[in-house]
Amino acid sequence: MRLTTIGTGTAAPHPRRAQAGTLLESGPVSLLIDCGSAVVTRMAERGLDWPGITHVATTHFHADHTSDLATLIYGWRYGLLPPRSAPATLLGPPGFAARLDGMKAAFGEGLLDAPPPLSVVELEPGTPFPLAEGLALESFKVPHTAESVAYSVSGRGWRVVVSGDTGPDPGLAGWAAGCDVLVLECSLPDSLALPIHLTPRQCGELALIAQPRHLVLTHFYAPVEAEDITAQVAERFGGPVTCAYDGWTLTLEDS
Ligand SMILES: [Zn+2]
Ligand SMILES: [Zn+2]
Repeated sequence: MRLTTIGTGTAAPHPRRAQAGTLLESGPVSLLIDCGSAVVTRMAERGLDWPGITHVATTHFHADHTSDLATLIYGWRYGLLPPRSAPATLLGPPGFAARLDGMKAAFGEGLLDAPPPLSVVELEPGTPFPLAEGLALESFKVPHTAESVAYSVSGRGWRVVVSGDTGPDPGLAGWAAGCDVLVLECSLPDSLALPIHLTPRQCGELALIAQPRHLVLTHFYAPVEAEDITAQVAERFGGPVTCAYDGWTLTLEDS
């Protein structure tokens, strides 16, 4: 399995950080979690296989997590010769299909027509979705917007949890407990803390409970980048911590 943080930025346009997007590749599965602005371009820039994405999972409907969905679908249809014919699955929390209908209204009725054939799945939190033999996606409700979820991908001897945007939540920490990789948003410094985002110390607090083998931080607004993020996390969590950048990768052996 290879995990790549494609976009480590936020709603604030940034010269070196595309908006939210994390890619997880394992066997026949290429799962993109969130697709904010510049994520598809960043994949092309890094030579990553955007035409071969099999699943896109949306954590919530904020534009910095969804605005490149249409870019990706248009790329598959109009940016490849011949157009992509392999089906793809678009997943999101309840309410996702109505949001895609809204995109259809903006971009034209054809947005969701084949090619490629697109399946739209509204995933209920706690209901596993099979991505492939022995590999499942599951969601967990998190405090950010009404629909916001975190995702877990597990099977083949490992489990990866991606928080999406979230505030502090012991429930999320418990759900993520013992995972191999925990990708957490790390939006704001203590001085700007909000109940719907995490600070480095709150990431440390969450990781102290979850005890992932590796903590990966993403979704940095500029003010938090002025802080010593890893030192603040280390006040609570003693394990390995990475502040991700666009294109950072980690590989885990499949069993
Ligand atoms: Zn965001
Ligand atoms: Zn958000």
